[in-house]
Amino acid sequence: GANDTSGTDGASLEAIQAKLFGLQRKYTEEASKRLRSDGLAQYVNLQDAGDARIRSLGKDPWADHAALNAKAPSVKDGGKYKFVILGGGYGGLIAAVRLIEAGLVNSPDDLRIIEAGGGYGGTWYWNRYPGLHCDVESYIYMPLLEETGYTPKHKYSSGLELREHAERIATKWDLHDKALFRSEVTDGRWSDEEEVWNLSVTEDRGPEGQRKMNIQANYFFVMSGVLTIPHVPKVSGLEGFNGSMFHTSRWDYGVTGGSQEDQNLSGLEGKRVGIIGTGATAIQAVPKLAKFAKEVYVFQRTPSSVSWRGQKETDPEEWKTKIATKKGWQKERRHNWDTYLNNCAPPEQENLVGCGWTEAPACCAIIGSPNFGFVQPTPEAIGEHIGKLMMLDVPRAEKARARIDDIVNDPETAAALKPWYPVWCKRPTFSDEYLQAFNLPHVHLVDTDGKGVDSATSAGLVVQGKEYPLDVLVLSTGYRSPGYGGLDPVKRTGINMFGRGGKSFSDKWKAQGASTFHGIISHGFPNFFFSPTGQFGQTPNNVETLDTAVEHMTHFIKKAEEKAGGVAVIDPTTEAEEEWAMEAVKRAANLAALTVCTPGYMTLEGEFNKPNQDPAEMMKNARMGIWSEGILSFSKLLEAYRAGDLGERSIGNIEK
Ligand code: FAD
Ligand code: NDP
Repeated sequence: GANDTSGTDGASLEAIQAKLFGLQRKYTEEASKRLRSDGLAQYVNLQDAGDARIRSLGKDPWADHAALNAKAPSVKDGGKYKFVILGGGYGGLIAAVRLIEAGLVNSPDDLRIIEAGGGYGGTWYWNRYPGLHCDVESYIYMPLLEETGYTPKHKYSSGLELREHAERIATKWDLHDKALFRSEVTDGRWSDEEEVWNLSVTEDRGPEGQRKMNIQANYFFVMSGVLTIPHVPKVSGLEGFNGSMFHTSRWDYGVTGGSQEDQNLSGLEGKRVGIIGTGATAIQAVPKLAKFAKEVYVFQRTPSSVSWRGQKETDPEEWKTKIATKKGWQKERRHNWDTYLNNCAPPEQENLVGCGWTEAPACCAIIGSPNFGFVQPTPEAIGEHIGKLMMLDVPRAEKARARIDDIVNDPETAAALKPWYPVWCKRPTFSDEYLQAFNLPHVHLVDTDGKGVDSATSAGLVVQGKEYPLDVLVLSTGYRSPGYGGLDPVKRTGINMFGRGGKSFSDKWKAQGASTFHGIISHGFPNFFFSPTGQFGQTPNNVETLDTAVEHMTHFIKKAEEKAGGVAVIDPTTEAEEEWAMEAVKRAANLAALTVCTPGYMTLEGEFNKPNQDPAEMMKNARMGIWSEGILSFSKLLEAYRAGDLGERSIGNIEK
């Protein structure tokens, strides 16, 4: 429960307080080492880099231009489609499937998917680095398992299996000729006269150059993901490094040898390999580098929290008799998992997934919990709220730090690998190989004490005046923060959207802050649905969030079409939207737990924590709140709404 102080072993109140203050002091001290005035500006997106070499690191290495150019184009200039979905990741695929299953796609031109990459998979298309696996159990993470009848090979599926699953979905629902790959939507304009979206699309046909198209859509879905724009820190001299260099989201098997299918990185034999970054990606890649390279240098700014993983093969008997036992098993299993992360698991309940996440109830700090209810926006109430969450996190945090001492032989390395922040500040990681790798004589931790790499030379990297010569440099430095642009889904995607009366979506968002109805649609932008961030329920199982959102989007369309007798125009009223925004504002103080965090993408690299006294700006920030009672409570609310059980509440108003 919220007052759970397990881990304090029945200690006196004074002892608990002293422990908490000590911990808080240490956390603040470590966070302040990392706080920088340049925040998000310390990075450059690969695609926007001024230097041609850095920019080229963002290119799609996987697109098979010859094969794609040989296919008949699926989208024609001037084409008119009922549904256009931007994004061919799991989000876009789930949307396509649910629209088909709802009977909303009936003619060959009813559906198109436009995707910047050269194939389906999104995250799992772009990322192919060695060691890549999902970190949420594949049984609850992989979409449409029941509908495809697929049994994942392992508890945690590999990146390859996850990409193949995207292909499986596309095959089963006949989506291969519905996709336009290597293409970006750049502009969307609502026509008040024709009541359609006019979309500008640019296709990159590789050696054949670009093809520009204007198409129309009755409904436009932006399922563009949140971790899609790879970036690198502005390390001076990086572009002049003489060795090979690539970002983990565009792994260069030409340099390392091997492939996604065959992770024998023989190209690294005899090589000195450096990797910048120690986030969830590096946790998976470092053990693979360690297996093949002569020397591995891991450049660390902030250590990840690394818990046990427990990877295992799926036992077909267990799958049949205990997991995939009945219709709706996946949702039930997801919800069972959610109760642990939402700190509301009934004690008598069987923990079906039984993974490290379920030992981290303090995750509820940023995804909500019915036990924490609402926090009053007063310093006292917020202080108490954060204190309770920190106490809830103590057992897991201490276990994670003790695990390092148990595994890592060298005490200095072990000390440097210890994370000093609560679980909700950075995505927790799970590995039975990462910490162990530091016991190998050729794997070196280069801890920068929170400062990061100083600079690069033609020979390698420099930290605290010492040069580390390298042959290969792996940039495991992550993505532009999902919070970029105040959660504006259009800005995040890099498109320009103009709704009724030619009004700009981003101008509206900038002027009044996050403005949605149920997190997925915004007034003045009819029939435009986007994958949710703020003003929605959240869970670290992103596919569950996407599934929840798509079910709701499909409901809106189905209902509206039944009423309209065909294609409808769906636009929430301003009143409904404002009432919904106030639901987020009411819950915003819950996210104050982020103020104790070390910088990272969750806190916009520390920008979120800057004091802001301007009431208008504070209100805009508050509108970014999420459903603080957690995804289970949120799903129930949406179900009640869909069942018509919310009565006359205006949050149900959708106008034609
Ligand atoms: P994505 O998979 O990111 O797909 C969005 C697609 O939209 C991209 O392919 C992009 O090219 C395309 N796109 C964007 N803008 C445009 C445009 N203007 N025009 C055309 N196309 C565009 N989550 C978990 O829950 N569990 C995990 O284990 C997990 N592991 C992850 C591992 C990595 C390395 C990363 C980066 C993320 C991980 N995530 C994980 C988060 C993951 O992104 C989501 O789980 C999920 O795959 C998101 O699906 P999506 O379709 O919303 O977005
Ligand atoms: P992250 O943003 O989590 O990590 C980037 C890393 O680069 C951080 O360790 C960061 O340090 C470091 N860094 C940045 N600048 C510098 C610098 N100047 N010097 C030294 N180090 C620097 O990106 P990831 O790709 O690791 O992960 C992104 C997200 O993708 C994860 O949080 C997770 O949601 C998802 N993911 C999930 C995986 C899974 O297990 N299925 C695997 C991979 C990713 P600092 O922390 O100090 O900022």
